[in-house]
Amino acid sequence: MNLKHRLFKLPLGMQKLIRAVSLCAGKNKVKAYLVGGIVRDLILKKANFDLDIVVEADAIEFAKILSSYLGVDFRRHYNFKTATVLSLPYKIDLASARREFYPYSGSLPRIELSNLRDDLGRRDFSINAMALSLNKGSFAKLIDYFGGFSDLNKGVIRILHEDSFLEDPTRLFRAIRFKERFNFKFSPKTSRFLKQAVKKKALSFVNEHRLRDELVLILSEKEPLKCIRTLNKSIGFDFLAVSELEKSDFLFFQRLRSAVLWFSRKFPSQRKLEKWIIYLMGLFKNTPLPKLRQVLAKFGFRRGERIRLLSSKRIRVLDKLSAKASPSKIHKLLDPFSFETIIFFYALSSCKLARKNIEDFFCKHSKVRLKIKGGMLAHLGLLPQAMYAKVLKKILYKKIDGKITSKSDEFREAKRHLRSN
Ligand code: ATP
Repeated sequence: MNLKHRLFKLPLGMQKLIRAVSLCAGKNKVKAYLVGGIVRDLILKKANFDLDIVVEADAIEFAKILSSYLGVDFRRHYNFKTATVLSLPYKIDLASARREFYPYSGSLPRIELSNLRDDLGRRDFSINAMALSLNKGSFAKLIDYFGGFSDLNKGVIRILHEDSFLEDPTRLFRAIRFKERFNFKFSPKTSRFLKQAVKKKALSFVNEHRLRDELVLILSEKEPLKCIRTLNKSIGFDFLAVSELEKSDFLFFQRLRSAVLWFSRKFPSQRKLEKWIIYLMGLFKNTPLPKLRQVLAKFGFRRGERIRLLSSKRIRVLDKLSAKASPSKIHKLLDPFSFETIIFFYALSSCKLARKNIEDFFCKHSKVRLKIKGGMLAHLGLLPQAMYAKVLKKILYKKIDGKITSKSDEFREAKRHLRSN
Protein backbone atom coordinates (compact mmCIF):
# COMPACT_ATOMS: atom_id res chain seq x y z
CA MET A 1 0.00 0.00 0.00
CA ASN A 2 1.28 3.46 -0.88
CA LEU A 3 0.44 6.43 1.35
CA LYS A 4 1.81 9.22 -0.85
CA HIS A 5 -1.63 10.83 -0.96
CA ARG A 6 -1.63 11.04 2.86
CA LEU A 7 1.85 12.61 2.94
CA PHE A 8 0.54 15.33 0.60
CA LYS A 9 -1.97 16.28 3.31
CA LEU A 10 0.83 17.21 5.73
CA PRO A 11 1.81 20.88 6.07
CA LEU A 12 4.08 21.93 3.19
CA GLY A 13 7.01 22.56 5.55
CA MET A 14 6.87 18.95 6.74
CA GLN A 15 6.54 17.60 3.21
CA LYS A 16 9.69 19.52 2.26
CA LEU A 17 11.60 17.98 5.15
CA ILE A 18 10.45 14.46 4.26
CA ARG A 19 11.60 15.07 0.68
CA ALA A 20 14.95 16.32 1.99
CA VAL A 21 15.41 13.15 4.08
CA SER A 22 14.53 11.04 1.06
CA LEU A 23 16.95 12.93 -1.19
CA CYS A 24 19.88 12.82 1.25
CA ALA A 25 19.21 9.12 1.89
CA GLY A 26 19.24 8.35 -1.83
CA LYS A 27 22.43 10.32 -2.48
CA ASN A 28 24.24 8.64 0.39
CA LYS A 29 22.91 5.13 -0.18
CA VAL A 30 21.22 5.09 3.22
CA LYS A 31 17.86 3.39 3.81
CA ALA A 32 15.52 5.80 5.60
CA TYR A 33 11.99 5.31 6.98
CA LEU A 34 9.32 7.38 8.65
CA VAL A 35 8.24 5.41 11.72
CA GLY A 36 6.03 5.27 14.81
CA GLY A 37 3.15 7.51 15.78
CA ILE A 38 3.13 9.64 12.64
CA VAL A 39 2.58 6.60 10.40
CA ARG A 40 -0.29 5.46 12.62
CA ASP A 41 -1.80 8.95 12.55
CA LEU A 42 -1.39 9.36 8.79
CA ILE A 43 -3.51 6.25 8.37
CA LEU A 44 -6.03 7.48 10.93
CA LYS A 45 -6.04 10.95 9.28
CA LYS A 46 -5.10 12.58 12.58
CA ALA A 47 -2.69 15.49 12.96
CA ASN A 48 0.81 14.56 14.12
CA PHE A 49 3.86 16.72 13.58
CA ASP A 50 6.52 14.40 15.06
CA LEU A 51 8.91 13.43 12.33
CA ASP A 52 10.55 10.21 13.59
CA ILE A 53 13.00 8.74 11.13
CA VAL A 54 14.89 5.46 11.36
CA VAL A 55 17.93 4.91 9.16
CA GLU A 56 19.75 1.64 8.55
CA ALA A 57 23.00 3.50 9.12
CA ASP A 58 24.68 5.77 11.65
CA ALA A 59 21.93 8.28 12.53
CA ILE A 60 24.39 10.90 13.79
CA GLU A 61 26.39 10.82 10.54
CA PHE A 62 23.15 11.06 8.57
CA ALA A 63 21.95 13.96 10.72
CA LYS A 64 25.20 15.78 9.85
CA ILE A 65 24.52 15.34 6.14
CA LEU A 66 20.84 16.29 6.43
CA SER A 67 21.41 19.38 8.57
CA SER A 68 24.10 20.62 6.22
CA TYR A 69 21.76 20.08 3.23
CA LEU A 70 18.99 22.02 5.02
CA GLY A 71 21.40 24.63 6.41
CA VAL A 72 20.16 24.11 9.99
CA ASP A 73 21.57 22.91 13.32
CA PHE A 74 21.40 19.47 14.80
CA ARG A 75 21.89 17.91 18.24
CA ARG A 76 23.49 14.54 18.74
CA HIS A 77 22.75 12.13 21.58
CA TYR A 78 25.72 9.74 21.59
CA ASN A 79 24.37 7.45 24.34
CA PHE A 80 21.35 6.50 22.28
CA LYS A 81 22.91 6.88 18.82
CA THR A 82 20.19 9.34 17.90
CA ALA A 83 20.12 12.93 16.67
CA THR A 84 17.67 15.77 16.26
CA VAL A 85 17.73 18.08 13.25
CA LEU A 86 16.14 21.40 14.11
CA SER A 87 14.34 22.94 11.18
CA LEU A 88 11.95 25.28 12.92
CA PRO A 89 9.05 25.10 13.49
CA TYR A 90 9.69 21.38 12.96
CA LYS A 91 12.28 18.96 14.18
CA ILE A 92 13.34 15.63 12.81
CA ASP A 93 14.29 12.87 15.26
CA LEU A 94 16.70 10.44 13.70
CA ALA A 95 17.64 7.04 15.11
CA SER A 96 19.78 4.18 13.87
CA ALA A 97 17.74 1.02 13.41
CA ARG A 98 18.33 -1.10 16.49
CA ARG A 99 17.56 -4.21 18.41
CA GLU A 100 16.98 -4.01 22.15
CA PHE A 101 17.78 -6.27 25.10
CA TYR A 102 16.38 -5.84 28.57
CA PRO A 103 18.90 -7.07 31.17
CA TYR A 104 16.10 -7.17 33.75
CA SER A 105 12.43 -6.24 33.96
CA GLY A 106 11.84 -2.49 33.95
CA SER A 107 15.48 -1.65 33.14
CA LEU A 108 16.51 0.63 30.32
CA PRO A 109 17.31 -1.48 27.27
CA ARG A 110 20.78 -2.24 25.93
CA ILE A 111 20.90 -1.59 22.21
CA GLU A 112 22.65 -3.08 19.23
CA LEU A 113 22.51 -1.65 15.69
CA SER A 114 20.34 -3.67 13.38
CA ASN A 115 17.78 -3.39 10.58
CA LEU A 116 14.28 -1.90 10.20
CA ARG A 117 12.49 -5.14 10.98
CA ASP A 118 14.24 -5.51 14.35
CA ASP A 119 13.65 -1.85 15.04
CA LEU A 120 9.93 -2.18 14.48
CA GLY A 121 9.86 -5.46 16.41
CA ARG A 122 11.11 -3.75 19.60
CA ARG A 123 8.18 -1.33 19.65
CA ASP A 124 5.23 -1.30 22.01
CA PHE A 125 2.14 -2.11 19.92
CA SER A 126 1.44 -3.23 16.38
CA ILE A 127 -0.24 0.10 15.55
CA ASN A 128 3.01 1.92 16.49
CA ALA A 129 5.24 -0.53 14.66
CA MET A 130 4.69 0.50 11.05
CA ALA A 131 7.01 2.43 8.75
CA LEU A 132 6.83 4.37 5.49
CA SER A 133 9.70 3.93 3.11
CA LEU A 134 11.41 7.15 2.09
CA ASN A 135 13.58 5.38 -0.45
CA LYS A 136 13.68 5.76 -4.18
CA GLY A 137 11.47 3.25 -5.97
CA SER A 138 9.33 2.61 -2.88
CA PHE A 139 8.66 6.15 -1.64
CA ALA A 140 5.69 6.25 0.79
CA LYS A 141 5.19 2.48 0.68
CA LEU A 142 3.76 1.15 3.95
CA ILE A 143 5.90 -1.44 5.72
CA ASP A 144 3.81 -3.44 8.15
CA TYR A 145 5.48 -6.60 9.48
CA PHE A 146 3.22 -6.99 12.51
CA GLY A 147 -0.32 -6.42 11.27
CA GLY A 148 -0.58 -2.83 12.52
CA PHE A 149 -2.78 -1.71 9.61
CA SER A 150 -5.31 -4.45 10.22
CA ASP A 151 -5.30 -3.72 13.99
CA LEU A 152 -5.90 -0.03 13.26
CA ASN A 153 -8.87 -0.94 11.14
CA LYS A 154 -10.23 -3.35 13.74
CA GLY A 155 -9.55 -0.92 16.61
CA VAL A 156 -7.18 -3.20 18.48
CA ILE A 157 -4.18 -2.53 20.75
CA ARG A 158 -1.83 -5.50 20.52
CA ILE A 159 1.60 -6.07 22.05
CA LEU A 160 4.17 -7.71 19.81
CA HIS A 161 5.39 -10.40 22.19
CA GLU A 162 4.41 -11.99 25.50
CA ASP A 163 7.10 -10.35 27.66
CA SER A 164 6.40 -6.86 26.37
CA PHE A 165 4.80 -5.47 29.55
CA LEU A 166 7.35 -7.15 31.82
CA GLU A 167 10.29 -5.87 29.79
CA ASP A 168 8.99 -2.34 29.89
CA PRO A 169 6.09 -1.85 32.31
CA THR A 170 5.64 1.78 31.21
CA ARG A 171 3.83 0.13 28.30
CA LEU A 172 0.97 -0.61 30.71
CA PHE A 173 0.27 3.13 30.76
CA ARG A 174 0.88 3.48 27.06
CA ALA A 175 -1.56 0.67 26.30
CA ILE A 176 -4.31 2.41 28.26
CA ARG A 177 -3.44 5.81 26.79
CA PHE A 178 -3.81 4.63 23.18
CA LYS A 179 -6.81 2.43 23.94
CA GLU A 180 -8.74 5.36 25.42
CA ARG A 181 -7.49 7.95 22.93
CA PHE A 182 -8.75 5.95 19.98
CA ASN A 183 -11.60 4.09 21.69
CA PHE A 184 -9.91 0.80 20.86
CA LYS A 185 -9.92 -2.48 22.75
CA PHE A 186 -7.08 -4.75 23.84
CA SER A 187 -6.53 -7.95 21.90
CA PRO A 188 -7.36 -10.95 24.15
CA LYS A 189 -3.65 -11.80 24.59
CA THR A 190 -2.72 -8.20 25.36
CA SER A 191 -5.43 -8.09 27.97
CA ARG A 192 -4.18 -11.35 29.51
CA PHE A 193 -0.53 -10.30 29.62
CA LEU A 194 -1.48 -6.91 31.00
CA LYS A 195 -3.28 -8.60 33.90
CA GLN A 196 -0.35 -10.93 34.47
CA ALA A 197 2.12 -8.03 34.55
CA VAL A 198 -0.05 -6.19 37.07
CA LYS A 199 -0.27 -9.33 39.21
CA LYS A 200 3.50 -9.60 39.16
CA LYS A 201 3.66 -5.96 40.33
CA ALA A 202 5.61 -5.01 37.23
CA LEU A 203 5.32 -1.27 37.95
CA SER A 204 7.43 -1.66 41.06
CA PHE A 205 10.44 -2.56 38.87
CA VAL A 206 10.42 0.73 37.00
CA ASN A 207 12.26 3.90 37.89
CA GLU A 208 9.66 6.32 39.27
CA HIS A 209 10.80 9.12 36.99
CA ARG A 210 9.82 7.08 33.96
CA LEU A 211 6.44 6.34 35.55
CA ARG A 212 5.98 10.05 36.21
CA ASP A 213 6.58 10.89 32.54
CA GLU A 214 3.97 8.36 31.44
CA LEU A 215 1.54 9.55 34.11
CA VAL A 216 1.89 13.13 32.87
CA LEU A 217 1.23 11.97 29.30
CA ILE A 218 -1.84 9.94 30.23
CA LEU A 219 -3.34 12.79 32.29
CA SER A 220 -2.67 15.22 29.43
CA GLU A 221 -4.84 13.22 27.03
CA LYS A 222 -7.99 14.85 25.70
CA GLU A 223 -10.18 12.71 27.97
CA PRO A 224 -8.06 11.97 31.06
CA LEU A 225 -11.07 10.78 32.99
CA LYS A 226 -11.54 7.80 30.69
CA CYS A 227 -7.90 6.89 31.24
CA ILE A 228 -8.26 7.27 35.01
CA ARG A 229 -11.25 4.90 34.99
CA THR A 230 -9.34 2.26 33.05
CA LEU A 231 -6.19 2.75 35.14
CA ASN A 232 -8.27 2.30 38.29
CA LYS A 233 -9.85 -0.87 36.96
CA SER A 234 -6.83 -2.54 35.46
CA ILE A 235 -3.73 -1.28 37.28
CA GLY A 236 -4.88 0.67 40.33
CA PHE A 237 -3.08 3.60 41.92
CA ASP A 238 -1.05 1.75 44.55
CA PHE A 239 2.11 3.00 42.87
CA LEU A 240 1.06 6.53 43.94
CA ALA A 241 0.00 5.35 47.41
CA VAL A 242 -3.60 6.15 46.41
CA SER A 243 -6.28 3.60 47.28
CA GLU A 244 -8.87 2.30 44.84
CA LEU A 245 -11.10 5.08 43.52
CA GLU A 246 -14.77 4.93 44.33
CA LYS A 247 -17.95 6.34 42.86
CA SER A 248 -17.65 9.55 44.90
CA ASP A 249 -14.10 10.08 43.58
CA PHE A 250 -15.40 9.83 40.03
CA LEU A 251 -18.16 12.31 40.77
CA PHE A 252 -15.44 14.69 41.88
CA PHE A 253 -13.42 14.05 38.70
CA GLN A 254 -16.55 14.95 36.72
CA ARG A 255 -16.60 18.27 38.55
CA LEU A 256 -12.90 18.77 37.78
CA ARG A 257 -13.56 18.03 34.14
CA SER A 258 -16.40 20.57 34.00
CA ALA A 259 -14.23 23.18 35.74
CA VAL A 260 -11.39 22.68 33.24
CA LEU A 261 -13.83 22.89 30.31
CA TRP A 262 -15.47 26.00 31.78
CA PHE A 263 -12.11 27.73 32.10
CA SER A 264 -10.90 26.81 28.60
CA ARG A 265 -14.16 27.96 26.99
CA LYS A 266 -14.42 31.15 28.98
CA PHE A 267 -10.77 32.21 28.61
CA PRO A 268 -9.49 30.88 25.31
CA SER A 269 -6.75 33.50 25.23
CA GLN A 270 -5.42 32.74 28.74
CA ARG A 271 -2.33 30.60 29.15
CA LYS A 272 -3.27 26.96 28.58
CA LEU A 273 -3.87 25.08 31.80
CA GLU A 274 -1.57 22.20 32.60
CA LYS A 275 -4.49 19.85 32.84
CA TRP A 276 -2.47 16.91 34.11
CA ILE A 277 -1.60 18.81 37.28
CA ILE A 278 -5.28 19.41 38.04
CA TYR A 279 -6.18 15.74 37.55
CA LEU A 280 -3.21 14.72 39.67
CA MET A 281 -4.46 17.04 42.43
CA GLY A 282 -7.72 15.11 42.11
CA LEU A 283 -5.92 11.78 42.50
CA PHE A 284 -4.12 13.07 45.60
CA LYS A 285 -7.26 14.62 47.05
CA ASN A 286 -7.30 12.29 50.09
CA THR A 287 -3.52 11.93 50.46
CA PRO A 288 -2.25 13.60 53.64
CA LEU A 289 0.28 16.38 53.10
CA PRO A 290 3.39 14.62 54.51
CA LYS A 291 2.68 11.54 52.39
CA LEU A 292 2.15 13.72 49.31
CA ARG A 293 5.53 15.40 49.90
CA GLN A 294 7.18 11.97 50.00
CA VAL A 295 5.50 10.73 46.86
CA LEU A 296 6.29 13.88 44.88
CA ALA A 297 9.94 13.71 45.88
CA LYS A 298 10.16 10.01 45.00
CA PHE A 299 8.71 10.60 41.54
CA GLY A 300 11.05 13.52 40.92
CA PHE A 301 8.46 16.17 40.12
CA ARG A 302 10.05 19.55 39.41
CA ARG A 303 9.99 22.29 42.02
CA GLY A 304 7.26 24.37 40.33
CA GLU A 305 5.11 21.26 39.89
CA ARG A 306 5.60 20.24 43.52
CA ILE A 307 4.66 23.71 44.74
CA ARG A 308 1.44 23.66 42.73
CA LEU A 309 0.51 20.12 43.76
CA LEU A 310 1.19 20.80 47.43
CA SER A 311 -0.79 24.04 47.32
CA SER A 312 -3.92 21.98 46.57
CA LYS A 313 -3.88 21.06 50.27
CA ARG A 314 -4.38 24.67 51.38
CA ILE A 315 -8.12 24.26 51.22
CA ARG A 316 -8.78 26.52 54.21
CA VAL A 317 -8.81 29.35 51.72
CA LEU A 318 -12.22 28.04 50.69
CA ASP A 319 -13.67 28.96 54.11
CA LYS A 320 -12.56 32.54 53.57
CA LEU A 321 -13.95 32.54 50.06
CA SER A 322 -17.29 31.31 51.35
CA ALA A 323 -17.98 34.63 53.08
CA LYS A 324 -18.78 37.96 51.47
CA ALA A 325 -15.54 39.75 50.71
CA SER A 326 -14.33 42.80 48.81
CA PRO A 327 -12.84 42.19 45.36
CA SER A 328 -9.37 43.12 46.62
CA LYS A 329 -9.67 40.63 49.47
CA ILE A 330 -10.58 37.87 47.00
CA HIS A 331 -7.62 38.91 44.88
CA LYS A 332 -5.30 38.73 47.92
CA LEU A 333 -6.61 35.26 48.77
CA LEU A 334 -6.34 33.76 45.31
CA ASP A 335 -3.47 35.57 43.62
CA PRO A 336 -0.75 33.46 45.35
CA PHE A 337 -2.18 30.28 43.79
CA SER A 338 -1.64 28.93 40.28
CA PHE A 339 -4.65 28.83 37.97
CA GLU A 340 -4.46 25.02 38.17
CA THR A 341 -4.87 25.13 41.95
CA ILE A 342 -7.73 27.62 41.75
CA ILE A 343 -9.57 25.41 39.25
CA PHE A 344 -9.09 22.51 41.66
CA PHE A 345 -10.57 24.62 44.50
CA TYR A 346 -13.44 25.63 42.23
CA ALA A 347 -14.31 21.97 41.66
CA LEU A 348 -13.84 21.16 45.32
CA SER A 349 -16.17 23.81 46.67
CA SER A 350 -19.89 23.31 46.77
CA CYS A 351 -20.49 26.77 48.25
CA LYS A 352 -22.18 29.03 45.70
CA LEU A 353 -20.55 32.18 47.02
CA ALA A 354 -17.04 30.70 47.00
CA ARG A 355 -17.51 29.57 43.41
CA LYS A 356 -18.88 32.98 42.43
CA ASN A 357 -15.87 34.64 44.09
CA ILE A 358 -13.53 32.43 42.09
CA GLU A 359 -15.40 33.20 38.86
CA ASP A 360 -15.13 36.92 39.62
CA PHE A 361 -11.42 36.55 40.27
CA PHE A 362 -10.89 34.97 36.85
CA CYS A 363 -13.35 37.17 34.96
CA LYS A 364 -12.65 40.53 36.56
CA HIS A 365 -10.10 40.96 39.34
CA SER A 366 -7.18 39.02 37.87
CA LYS A 367 -7.43 41.10 34.70
CA VAL A 368 -7.09 44.53 36.34
CA ARG A 369 -3.77 46.16 35.45
CA LEU A 370 -2.28 49.47 36.54
CA LYS A 371 -1.36 52.08 33.96
CA ILE A 372 1.56 53.40 36.01
CA LYS A 373 4.75 51.37 36.37
CA GLY A 374 7.49 51.19 39.02
CA GLY A 375 9.80 53.40 36.95
CA MET A 376 7.22 56.21 37.04
CA LEU A 377 7.31 56.18 40.84
CA ALA A 378 11.02 56.99 40.62
CA HIS A 379 10.12 60.24 38.79
CA LEU A 380 7.89 61.16 41.69
CA GLY A 381 10.89 60.75 43.96
CA LEU A 382 9.19 57.94 45.76
CA LEU A 383 10.73 55.73 48.40
CA PRO A 384 13.48 53.15 48.07
CA GLN A 385 13.00 50.93 45.03
CA ALA A 386 12.23 47.94 47.26
CA MET A 387 8.95 49.64 48.24
CA TYR A 388 7.64 50.09 44.69
CA ALA A 389 6.01 46.68 44.50
CA LYS A 390 4.25 47.21 47.82
CA VAL A 391 2.93 50.65 46.84
CA LEU A 392 1.83 49.43 43.40
CA LYS A 393 -0.04 46.55 45.01
CA LYS A 394 -1.94 48.94 47.29
CA ILE A 395 -2.91 51.07 44.29
CA LEU A 396 -3.92 47.92 42.41
CA TYR A 397 -6.22 46.84 45.24
CA LYS A 398 -7.94 50.26 45.14
CA LYS A 399 -8.44 49.84 41.41
CA ILE A 400 -9.80 46.31 41.83
CA ASP A 401 -12.27 47.65 44.39
CA GLY A 402 -13.35 50.28 41.85
CA LYS A 403 -12.22 53.16 44.05
CA ILE A 404 -9.94 54.56 41.33
CA THR A 405 -10.15 54.15 37.57
CA SER A 406 -7.88 56.48 35.55
CA LYS A 407 -4.14 56.90 35.20
CA SER A 408 -4.33 60.27 36.98
CA ASP A 409 -6.13 58.55 39.90
CA GLU A 410 -3.22 56.13 40.09
CA PHE A 411 -0.69 59.00 40.12
CA ARG A 412 -2.66 60.77 42.82
CA GLU A 413 -2.59 57.64 44.96
CA ALA A 414 1.14 57.24 44.37
CA LYS A 415 1.75 60.84 45.49
CA ARG A 416 -0.36 60.24 48.57
CA HIS A 417 1.90 57.33 49.50
CA LEU A 418 4.90 59.59 48.90
CA ARG A 419 3.57 62.07 51.38
CA SER A 420 2.66 59.46 53.99
CA ASN A 421 6.09 57.81 53.94
P1 ATP B 1 1.92 10.28 20.77
O1 ATP B 1 0.91 10.39 19.66
O2 ATP B 1 1.31 10.23 22.12
O3 ATP B 1 3.09 11.22 20.67
P2 ATP B 1 3.70 8.25 19.77
O4 ATP B 1 3.30 6.92 19.23
O5 ATP B 1 4.24 9.24 18.80
O6 ATP B 1 2.48 8.80 20.58
P3 ATP B 1 6.09 8.47 21.35
O7 ATP B 1 6.16 8.32 22.84
O8 ATP B 1 6.44 9.76 20.74
O9 ATP B 1 4.67 7.94 20.94
O10 ATP B 1 7.02 7.35 20.76
C1 ATP B 1 7.28 7.23 19.36
C2 ATP B 1 7.32 5.77 18.98
O11 ATP B 1 8.34 5.10 19.72
C3 ATP B 1 6.06 5.00 19.30
O12 ATP B 1 5.11 5.13 18.25
C4 ATP B 1 6.56 3.58 19.45
O13 ATP B 1 6.78 3.00 18.18
C5 ATP B 1 7.91 3.78 20.08
N1 ATP B 1 7.87 3.71 21.55
C6 ATP B 1 7.72 4.74 22.41
N2 ATP B 1 7.75 4.31 23.68
C7 ATP B 1 7.93 2.98 23.62
C8 ATP B 1 8.05 1.97 24.60
N3 ATP B 1 7.97 2.23 25.90
N4 ATP B 1 8.24 0.70 24.17
C9 ATP B 1 8.32 0.44 22.85
N5 ATP B 1 8.21 1.33 21.89
C10 ATP B 1 8.01 2.60 22.26
